[in-house]
Amino acid sequence: MLNTDRHHVVIVGSGFGGLFAAKEFAGRDDVLVTLVAKTGHHLFQPLLYQVATGILSEGEVAPATREILRRQRNTRVVLGLVEQIDLQARTVTSRVHEHVTVTGYDSLILAAGSGQSYFGNDHFATFAPGMKSIDDALELRARIFGAFEFAETIEDPHERRRLLTFVVVGAGPTGVEMAGQLHELSAMTLTHEFRRIDPSEARIILVDGAPQMLPAFGDELGGRAHKALEKLGVDVRLGAMVTDVDENGIVLTYQDKRTERIECGTKIWAAGVQANELGAHIAQQAGAQVDRSGRVHVEEDLTLPGHPEVFVIGDMMAVDGVPGLAQGAIQSGQYAAGTIIARLAGEQERAGEPFSYRDKGSMAIISKYRAVASIGGMRLSGFPAWALWLLVHLVFLVGFKSRVLTLVNWAITFVSNTRGERVATNQQLVGRLALRQLGPHTSGPLVRGETVDQRPGDRSD
Ligand SMILES: Cc1cc2nc3c(=O)[nH]c(=O)nc-3n(C[C@H](O)[C@H](O)[C@H](O)COP(=O)(O)OP(=O)(O)OC[C@H]3O[C@@H](n4cnc5c(N)ncnc54)[C@H](O)[C@@H]3O)c2cc1C
Repeated sequence: MLNTDRHHVVIVGSGFGGLFAAKEFAGRDDVLVTLVAKTGHHLFQPLLYQVATGILSEGEVAPATREILRRQRNTRVVLGLVEQIDLQARTVTSRVHEHVTVTGYDSLILAAGSGQSYFGNDHFATFAPGMKSIDDALELRARIFGAFEFAETIEDPHERRRLLTFVVVGAGPTGVEMAGQLHELSAMTLTHEFRRIDPSEARIILVDGAPQMLPAFGDELGGRAHKALEKLGVDVRLGAMVTDVDENGIVLTYQDKRTERIECGTKIWAAGVQANELGAHIAQQAGAQVDRSGRVHVEEDLTLPGHPEVFVIGDMMAVDGVPGLAQGAIQSGQYAAGTIIARLAGEQERAGEPFSYRDKGSMAIISKYRAVASIGGMRLSGFPAWALWLLVHLVFLVGFKSRVLTLVNWAITFVSNTRGERVATNQQLVGRLALRQLGPHTSGPLVRGETVDQRPGDRSD
């Protein structure tokens, strides 16, 4: 417990929601903010696919949270995985390895985001990693570049073809952007580098169970993106559900019940999200509801029913008309902080105003010089949408250093078609699965250099 006269706000998560909430408290002498997150960085998730495909380094999309908030004297940044929240005692319990910290709060802002959903098929994750964290992006980088390397060493033409087949699951913005980048890598970046394989023969397949690509952008823009990707040579399969994934391939089941197996080396999962389990954990204590994606049904001021001191924001909240996008998280974070400030100032009217979301639109890049953007009533595609995409992403990247480095890397990639961030280590390739095999509580012994016994129950992968 902290001994403080100031109002203590605990924020869980340093993503868009948590960080933008924390920034609202800058300069407030009556508030002490503790931001607890399981990573030491703020992650700009919309650019993760560029880390996975070698355009950007992880540091450019993930500046240290501590550095971002260094001038905000009323704010402490604490590393820790939050495992428990006690609504009665008003405490948050977090852990770093085996060290447990219990932090008391006056107000709590829960912004722990969401993870990948495999729609009940969690075993797919072994072979089809998602893209939610720096670890995920670096693992994918190792898998993608590794597939070309491995194919170069293989004689058997069938095995080569399998290794050079990439399947992206999910035709939302992330899947579309990933498929476009894989095309650019194989058709432009890697063309003259191999002696036995022709990287441009790589097959890029984009799969989605829905009948339309980019549904949030409407029929017209979704259709344009579809045509543009097919023109590049991406094989788009819509209305196709992934019903099995294994080491060597993927099985699709079409709407007419027909099934097809695609032999492929690299599978990338960009479909479906599941809100952080802390949502269900507090909803259960409060008797609140969660939706199918685990998001908490909050009051119109984003508080947990019966707990006006607890705000649930960003990807964790279920609010009609608010999409799981960066803007939803930023605006809800700023709103929650503003409400706490208004309450402390005794501005009851302002504190009672319901949250209202301002839709600033959506955009997705398809390939070099091509994107689609839907902003208000405006629909853009091609070069204007691409230029706007670059501008918006630069503006929202956190930190001057990140912006400059990203701009330089983009310039190099666009002008020369080369990519400067292609390092991929074996650790990145196997780390996630190796840690899972070792079990959830091994990090302490590993850090201390102790021998860890493998438990048979932990070796399901
Ligand atoms: C690949 C990808 C591409 C995207 N592209 C776009 C895009 O182009 N445009 C757009 O608007 N949106 C995009 N999004 C969605 C957008 O990034 C999210 O909606 C947004 O990040 C949600 O913000 P948040 O603060 O709720 O959660 P996050 O940003 O996910 O932050 C969650 C935070 O909580 C921390 N955390 C999680 N669990 C715990 C725990 N138990 N203990 C402590 N800390 C914890 C995490 O470390 C993280 O700091 C994309 C998302 C992904 C994954």
